Amino acid sequence: MRDALFQDSLRRARKIGEAASISQEVIEALMRPQAMLQASIPVRMDDGSTQYFTAFRCRYNSILGPTKGGIRFHPDVTQSEVQALALWMTIKTAVVGLPFGGGKGGIIVDPKSLSPMELERLSRGYIRVMADFIGPDLDIPAPDVYTNAMIMGWMLDEYQFIKRCKAPGVITGKPIELGGSLGRDEATGRGAYLCLKELEKKRELIPNETTVAIQGLGNAGYHVARLLHQDGYKIVAMSDSKGGIYSAQGFDVESIWKEKTAARQLNAVYCDQPIGGCDNIPHKKISNEKLLQLKVDILIPAALEAVITEDNAAKIQAKIICEVANGPILASAEPLLEKNGITIIPDVLANAGGVTVSYFEWVQNRQGYMWTLEEVRSRLEQIMTKAFDEVWGTAEREKQSLRSGAYTLAFRRLEKGINSHGSREFFNGHS
Ligand code: GLU
Repeated sequence: MRDALFQDSLRRARKIGEAASISQEVIEALMRPQAMLQASIPVRMDDGSTQYFTAFRCRYNSILGPTKGGIRFHPDVTQSEVQALALWMTIKTAVVGLPFGGGKGGIIVDPKSLSPMELERLSRGYIRVMADFIGPDLDIPAPDVYTNAMIMGWMLDEYQFIKRCKAPGVITGKPIELGGSLGRDEATGRGAYLCLKELEKKRELIPNETTVAIQGLGNAGYHVARLLHQDGYKIVAMSDSKGGIYSAQGFDVESIWKEKTAARQLNAVYCDQPIGGCDNIPHKKISNEKLLQLKVDILIPAALEAVITEDNAAKIQAKIICEVANGPILASAEPLLEKNGITIIPDVLANAGGVTVSYFEWVQNRQGYMWTLEEVRSRLEQIMTKAFDEVWGTAEREKQSLRSGAYTLAFRRLEKGINSHGSREFFNGHS
């Protein structure tokens, strides 16, 4: 599937663009990445042998600014997946109005199989092969699936070593001490939460009567669960890659998180307890597939892409889906969900809080001035609620889904960017 992901994302973008009468110039510009680098990273393993890892970085489109997007470490990374994710970053940054284009990177690796020192060598190796392809004004990486602040710190360190100067703006999601921003760790989850709060007003949802299921308890999944739980929402199901847990009366998110991550303090970066092993909390075990099909009000896929396909779309019973993961719903599955009246808050809006605070981090690095947590949170709220309103308004006006509304909004911004270099009419002498 991951090999077909890029084609699937292109078909969806073209279809929405044409339905919204976006100019062919914009659609064509978005049909291919501007630059794509594939490299092999040699890593000295702890046993003295050398292993080679395949790495990618895609600078998809830079019309609106330097390209921006995370780096993922995963055994199933493919070039097609990286390109799809980079296209979505291009749309995402335009939806929230950031002065960035879209990019993405990845390494084919199972990071959990590496020792912490092998992981550090691999992270530094990535920067050694990519150092001339990235830069604070060119392409700015960040964390994504199975990468975190510590890995960003190693990468920054290596970049600065190669360039012989301090350049904190080359990477975001860094540790605070190395120039990271307060509030970056919770930003993706908080952004999704802010979208759901806006939907709460539109749909008059009553938190303690609203049930939520969350697939994936990584950083983003945890923070959105925590914030919704604080507001009284009933988090009835959660999962990680090993499986899920269910409780009709709802979970206390903090105690699950504490129990799940207790092992992390003692062991390596990726070591934590599977959620199904949290035995102090009463629960029923369920599979990830069953979690998706629960009869809940809100379903939050917060793990990987392509989990809702034509095969299971008809079985989804949630009323609202908030896409915290990138691309959890395949384009081909979407009509089935829409037919069943499901409201989808699309990834390019729902998870844009992460890149928005990455933008704040980059601004702070350039200013050499740190913002307070309150400042970060209040600016994030301004950007997310404005973007939500604009997407909602576009969708309503044009009788589209929220995804089509978000794409249309982004494409129009990209269109303005392209046309400011001279439109077709201008070159034909008509304006
Ligand atoms: N990986 C995140 C995303 O997919 C964050 C990207 C960033 O901060 O640049 O949006």
